[in-house]
Amino acid sequence: MKAHVVVMRWFTDELTAGRLRVGDQLPGERALAEQLGISRNTLREALRVLEVLGAVETGTGSGPRAGTRVAASTGAAISTVFRLQLATRQTTPEDVFRVRLALETHAAAQSDPARGDWEAAEAILEQMDDPQLAVDEFLRLDAAFHVCCSRAAGNALLSVLMEALRLVIADHTLERAAALSDWPSTVARLQTQHREILDDLRAGRGGDAAARLERHIAGYHGLTEPAATR
Ligand SMILES: [Zn+2]
Repeated sequence: MKAHVVVMRWFTDELTAGRLRVGDQLPGERALAEQLGISRNTLREALRVLEVLGAVETGTGSGPRAGTRVAASTGAAISTVFRLQLATRQTTPEDVFRVRLALETHAAAQSDPARGDWEAAEAILEQMDDPQLAVDEFLRLDAAFHVCCSRAAGNALLSVLMEALRLVIADHTLERAAALSDWPSTVARLQTQHREILDDLRAGRGGDAAARLERHIAGYHGLTEPAATR
């Protein structure tokens, strides 16, 4: 078995058994290497992999934050993997569109108004009202608004996937924005739709919000269809 597999197995076993929790410090390098029967150098390399995955973080110096600790920020690694999938063309932008549609309409249908951070969602929309906002900035905030709304579904995995898709969605919608001839009127329409979706979610009308989201996302997709494939 490869050394990093040994370390990964030990790490997940410890977490699953509850012997390690997020924020806990890992055992010292020397003791852990001995326990796993690998060299300290190999252990260090394996820990680097866990760090890149966002599963551990390494503090510096001494004190309570020093050493290697269990972290829960694997979302960034998933986001990187999604972007690599697109860059290597294993995934197409059309796949992104369909998956976000499925995730977001499902999230809206499962949405609980008590769980949503509606003030944060509203604050994003207010930023998007700024007429000076560049197209890429607007679409970056647009993706953030959608991620924020989807959290009200209370599904941790769905939230991680949506957060990981945030940059991919922003890139994808920006790429397609070139097909739009009248940006200001697009902004006005999108913002009206966003506020209707938010109103529905806040009022507990998840089914209505899901239908509106479908029209909102598919509508933009249809409008920005590249001329060659229209
Ligand atoms: Zn939107």
